[in-house]
Amino acid sequence: MSSSSIAALDAADPLASYRDRFQLPEGVIYLDGNSLGALPRQTADRVQAVMQHEWGTGLIRSWNSADWIGAPQRVGGKIARLVGARPHEIVVADSTSVNLSKLIMAVLTARPDRTVVLSEPGNFPTDLYMVESALATLGGARQLQLAPRDTLAEQITDNTALVLLTHVHYKTADVYDMAAITAAAHAKGALVLWDLSHSVGAVPLALNDCGADLAVGCGYKFLNGGPGAPAFLFVAERHHATLVSPLGGWMGHARPFAFVDHYEPATGISRFLCGTPPILAVAALESGVDLHLEVDMQVVLQKSRALAQLFMDQVAVRCAPYGVSLVGPPPGAPRGSHVSFRHAEGYAIMQALIARGVIGDFRAPDIMRFGLTPLYLRFTDVVQAVDVLEDVLRTESWRAPEYQVRQAVT
Ligand SMILES: *Cc1c(COP(=O)(O)O)cnc(C)c1O
Repeated sequence: MSSSSIAALDAADPLASYRDRFQLPEGVIYLDGNSLGALPRQTADRVQAVMQHEWGTGLIRSWNSADWIGAPQRVGGKIARLVGARPHEIVVADSTSVNLSKLIMAVLTARPDRTVVLSEPGNFPTDLYMVESALATLGGARQLQLAPRDTLAEQITDNTALVLLTHVHYKTADVYDMAAITAAAHAKGALVLWDLSHSVGAVPLALNDCGADLAVGCGYKFLNGGPGAPAFLFVAERHHATLVSPLGGWMGHARPFAFVDHYEPATGISRFLCGTPPILAVAALESGVDLHLEVDMQVVLQKSRALAQLFMDQVAVRCAPYGVSLVGPPPGAPRGSHVSFRHAEGYAIMQALIARGVIGDFRAPDIMRFGLTPLYLRFTDVVQAVDVLEDVLRTESWRAPEYQVRQAVT
């Protein structure tokens, strides 16, 4: 593709103005917004204001005057608009891992007659680990069953308590058909828990229209909530009365400030809160969510597809001869907003890329993963990233010893 046609794509980009809403370092092409979203400029101001005014001046009064106490529900309600849920069906709380555990335990406890949790091999590790630990805690005859995605729907039976799936796969960007899986599960009386960590803020979602039961999602990836941002959980209203959190903390109590001795869960989604919300972190997350609410997720999806198409085409032509092969959905198929390639030396190649300012990440054993974030990436960035990748492969600069050393975080 000629440089003028790439420039034309950027000139016609309806999201082009959003790039300046982020603080991006000079000389970096950031292809890891699927793992840690970039810093929105407004977030630094927002967190500063919460610190100076609400905390510094308001002090404890701010629980009421700045509505800190309502923040988990307020921000949850905003996330609901991004994922096609009703505002009272989502709260911000804890980490994705903890929210997975709370919902898995709640379902298994409510449905002791069904013994199987069904998931897929290669699901995100924490999802499977949280099932294992829930099973160890609850005991009995319950078990985790893993079925590959092409036969998964057939494996749902009237003994399946819960189907636990990651909607957009963290390595491959494969996407499940949420409506179809949910319908297959409901036909057998099973519930589905969707992990939306690589979906929210990346692809349009319609939880209510799909009949979704339960979901969790991550705040620090495509939502740009900041490192370790709080996560969220979704429980469809029809399940509010029957599911109870295994962590009956006071913030999930019907009347937290009655200070009574006995736990009584709140009637709505608030029953899935546990302890005091981290207000500074919730403020940063809210700022990232607010930015997403300005844009149409269909427009985001279209640009994501176009960026991915360009990236896949360029790599296929220029890098495939060096042993780089596409992983996940082929060009044109539904996908999440990251693109992954396999190469036996993927770790060292990624280190060489990062050293030259092209930041993606590596997922063992051999996957180079590149996040394509439509709000702050240009088509020009994609082509320049492939320029560097091609150069690293052609010169074999990845062979340098410093790129062979595995760091703690890959
Ligand atoms: C990133 C991610 C998580 C993160 O869980 P934490 O509790 O925040 O560490 C969970 N599930 C999936 C699918 C993810 O991609």
